[in-house]
Amino acid sequence: MSAPLRIDVITIFPDYLAPLGLSLLGKAQREGLLEVQVHDLRDWTHDRHRTVDDSPYGGGAGMVMRPDPWGEALDAICGSRPGQTPHLIVPGPGGDPFTQEVATELATDAGWLVFACGRYEGIDERVYDEYRERYPLSVLSLGDYVLNGGEVAVLAMTEAIARLVPGVLGNEASLEEESHTGGLLEYPVYTKPPRWRDREVPPVLLSGHHGQIASWRHAQRIERTAARRPDLMQAYEGTSKD
Ligand code: SAM
Repeated sequence: MSAPLRIDVITIFPDYLAPLGLSLLGKAQREGLLEVQVHDLRDWTHDRHRTVDDSPYGGGAGMVMRPDPWGEALDAICGSRPGQTPHLIVPGPGGDPFTQEVATELATDAGWLVFACGRYEGIDERVYDEYRERYPLSVLSLGDYVLNGGEVAVLAMTEAIARLVPGVLGNEASLEEESHTGGLLEYPVYTKPPRWRDREVPPVLLSGHHGQIASWRHAQRIERTAARRPDLMQAYEGTSKD
């Protein structure tokens, strides 16, 4: 078995990350496919109030996370595995979009991810400058909206990445035709009963004819993608012409 994917998360709300121990991700940890450690940033403060923020230089609303606890925390955690280099991920609304492609790269190549969860108005910019010189560092956005902190983004990113680690999903075939794999959205899915409130399952799915089912599903993927995500459809048409 290959080495487990290691994930460290630094946050001022460790309890927020409790769901990482549930469901498939919890099982993956028990099976040794994934190792998750959540750290409280305040453990690297030295004052009575365990302060992690201060007012912004230049004025303005809100508070900014101080660089000194972040520096101590990142030095301790990123240096904790001699000979190994983490990929540092800082969630932020101004980052590169977090996509299935990015999730796949991180699941396949990184081996060790350290997530730094910002709060307030974000983290002092010098922390990015310092650690970008020392490690691969990505600022990644969950979408074009603003959350209160990085924790929700880390939950989403961790789940998307970890389910791509071989062995984490019970049935890896389910990855093959998923939305955002191969550039199209997934086809609609149905289960029993065959008739529910006068609504029938499309008859082709009950036909047992694998070829016809595959063609129907492909046509549904195209139709759904064109209707809901013209941007994806345009990209798909571009690549399928090459
Ligand atoms: N003042 C910052 C700005 O306008 O870019 C927003 C700070 S936000 C209130 C606090 C933290 O939430 C950020 O440091 C980041 O960790 C997280 N966050 C907010 N929106 C996010 C998003 N769309 N994707 C990823 N992380 C996000």
